Amino acid sequence: MIPHTIQEARTKVLAGELTLANLVEHYFEQISASNGEINAFVFEDKEEAIRQAKLVQEKVDSGQAGALVGAVMGIKDVICEKGRPTTCASEILAGFESVYDATVIERLRAEDAILIGRLNMDEFAMGSTNEYSRYGAARNPHDTTKVTGGSSGGSAAAVAGNLANSTLGSDTGGSIRQPASYCGVVGIKPTYGRVSRYGLVAFASSFDSIGPLANSVQDAASVLQVIAGFDERDNTSAQIEVPDYVSVAENPDGNIKIGVPEEFFGEGLDEGVKEIVESTIQKLKDNGAEIIPIHLPHTKYGLATYYILATAEASSNLARYDGIRYGHRADKNTVLDELKAEETEIKSRLKNASESEVPAIEKELAQLDSALTRLYKKSRTEGFGPEVKRRIMLGTYVLSAGYYDAYYGKAQKVRRLIQNDYKEAFQKVDVIACPTAPTTAFDIGSEINDPLQMYLNDAYTISANLAGICGISVPAGTHGNGLPVGIQFMGDVFQEEKIINAGRLVEMLR
Ligand code: GLN
Repeated sequence: MIPHTIQEARTKVLAGELTLANLVEHYFEQISASNGEINAFVFEDKEEAIRQAKLVQEKVDSGQAGALVGAVMGIKDVICEKGRPTTCASEILAGFESVYDATVIERLRAEDAILIGRLNMDEFAMGSTNEYSRYGAARNPHDTTKVTGGSSGGSAAAVAGNLANSTLGSDTGGSIRQPASYCGVVGIKPTYGRVSRYGLVAFASSFDSIGPLANSVQDAASVLQVIAGFDERDNTSAQIEVPDYVSVAENPDGNIKIGVPEEFFGEGLDEGVKEIVESTIQKLKDNGAEIIPIHLPHTKYGLATYYILATAEASSNLARYDGIRYGHRADKNTVLDELKAEETEIKSRLKNASESEVPAIEKELAQLDSALTRLYKKSRTEGFGPEVKRRIMLGTYVLSAGYYDAYYGKAQKVRRLIQNDYKEAFQKVDVIACPTAPTTAFDIGSEINDPLQMYLNDAYTISANLAGICGISVPAGTHGNGLPVGIQFMGDVFQEEKIINAGRLVEMLR
């Protein structure tokens, strides 16, 4: 029997009861059997993984095992791995291979994790279902008619479906925690600045963070332990010491203060989800926690604030994909033919125009795109999917001269108010508990045509990104509909140990 967790795999490997090559083989068998349906991995490199397994095995055999021996990991397709495709599940990056490793990748390898492939996601990490992907939707291993959540859908489904024992995801507004909740696994979004973003393809740079997904809180803590910490290549990375998360997860302390915000238990929350989260909080209370009702009064502005600021940053970050420097470029000859045809058409109208029509048509002719401009436009039109286009348009709008103050400037101010709500709350409590998402996983296809409904899935996760604090989602139970429900704990900046502690308590009391 091959164990599901890194921790157990590690124990067996170190005891000589399991070789890393066998462990890696096992995951490739799992991938062959079920990735066709789950669609979590979009690229695998078995040969290289086995080669790595043998190299690490030699280290283990000579008594030099790194901290992540036993970790067989997949990486979200938004984090650069040298020589492997890095497409962000977008047509515009189809065929692109990274030329360097992200800092997190270097750190995982240095501690002997084996990286076996790349994971499905929503295009450029924009989405809550993993349906906006050039590879098609990832499917929830608990019920393959349901979404995995997103945008790190592949990262959550790979762990839940036992295609890897841990993965990395990225979280800009909930993209680690929400799919973790839908797929019944653990996911940690670290504090902004805790884990280096060097080598993470940017979506919204002041929100983005990289974090682990795994089958247990201890496993997630052990991966975080390795990837956390200062990196001089990321100038928002914090020079703050990394505590021992692993030992916190090994010896959790039940005597904690848990804030419960009324604002996260109101309208829109599914009854079954609410019951499970509330009964989990009750168990924590019975186990010695103090439960303190709190208020986070600006919560109701969170979604609007996030979708203004994140789209603004995205529109700027995505300007670099122009079809010249990376990935997809529209066909040059088609562009030239198109322009020629348009020019001919305008000129023939000009010929037959009455005097009063001439100035308007001349203007049209003068404004006809240059070949280069049209090449950019066409490459972007072909390369980006619908959600990414929507975000670029929204973001460009809120940053435009006439609307900057009314939208972008105002949203920055509200972001500060939300941060202040959390600062105040964390003076009274160690962690804040709430549902991770308002519902369980829903049917694939059911929300894809309703962006606003889709955005509501993030209602409980985005504030952690707005405030820059940390959050964890831990499986809390099974809904009446048979699907997993996650509980979320948020912690103050650089207090990952507190959310890990709370998460581990839930795991033990479950
Ligand atoms: N679902 C949110 C969005 O679409 C969050 C995405 C994320 O965290 N990357 O923006």
